[in-house]
Amino acid sequence: MHFLKTTERKRIFMTAFLAAVACVTFAQDQLASIAPIDKRLRVIDSISIIRMLEVESQGDPAASLYPEWNNNYTTQYGVEMPKEYKIDLRGFHMPCESRRVTSSYGYRRSFRRNHYGTDIKVYVGDTIRSAFSGKVRIVAYNRRGYGKYVVVRHHNGLETIYGHMSKQLVKEDQVVRAGEPIGLGGNTGRSTGSHLHFETRFLGKFIDPEKMFDFQAHDVLGDFYLFSSVGRSRLLTAEEGDKLPDNTILASVGGPTFEADKEEQSKRFQEQRRESIRTHVHKVRKGDSLSTIARKYGTSVNRLCKLNNITTKTVLRVGQILKYS
Ligand SMILES: [Zn+2]
Repeated sequence: MHFLKTTERKRIFMTAFLAAVACVTFAQDQLASIAPIDKRLRVIDSISIIRMLEVESQGDPAASLYPEWNNNYTTQYGVEMPKEYKIDLRGFHMPCESRRVTSSYGYRRSFRRNHYGTDIKVYVGDTIRSAFSGKVRIVAYNRRGYGKYVVVRHHNGLETIYGHMSKQLVKEDQVVRAGEPIGLGGNTGRSTGSHLHFETRFLGKFIDPEKMFDFQAHDVLGDFYLFSSVGRSRLLTAEEGDKLPDNTILASVGGPTFEADKEEQSKRFQEQRRESIRTHVHKVRKGDSLSTIARKYGTSVNRLCKLNNITTKTVLRVGQILKYS
């Protein structure tokens, strides 16, 4: 009997793996070439696999961003926020089957306080899945708050929180892939009626999940989300995102310790930034009106009309793209 050496087997496996990825990548390129410019990438397995390998080789996803890895609940990381950071949203997986948002992010009059996540209707026992690949940072119970909850840190810099579950299916420090079950829907903690409380944070700062994801469509709203601590955060298309320099440079643009050789890149970046500002768009959803859209982006109905060459009487179509700035 002859057995292949481990290294030999690894090599064969990797060759097969790369061939498989190459096929998927090729198919994606084909898709991209025929897709409209604002084509949103759906869940693509090759991306999930690559992310998973990255996570495994790194141990701590987004290690360069967060000061440390721990299993404690926190919203303060004690580090300076980067000026800008490009969050890669590709590879997103819907955390549940349900598409029904029951409560959005923002101020809740009935509670007289802010709601820092998006509530999605789920039933007790429904599978809750990790939105991206990453590593489970917290598995805990908070009787007066999240109930049974899980926090996952992702390679793209986001941390996602899943609250009110009936059961957690993962352990702390466990590596998970996008779409992997992490718990079951429930009604634990401060919750009336079973639902999933889904929260997204970047270095502890809350981000309205509905600024990045379209839960009805089980999709992302753009390929990248440019987090900004100095200006307004916004969505970027794949094209815009790819043009931006990597995050280490983004974070230091305009910073005090700016090296001369980075100046050229900065200039280029500023130009691209001006370009990308033109693409602030909203995809009309069921129930949207000019006034709700205006409110969402902090603009006025008049300005929306002017920008889109429409009047207040124009009937909005679901799926219609509207510029909002
Ligand atoms: Zn909630």
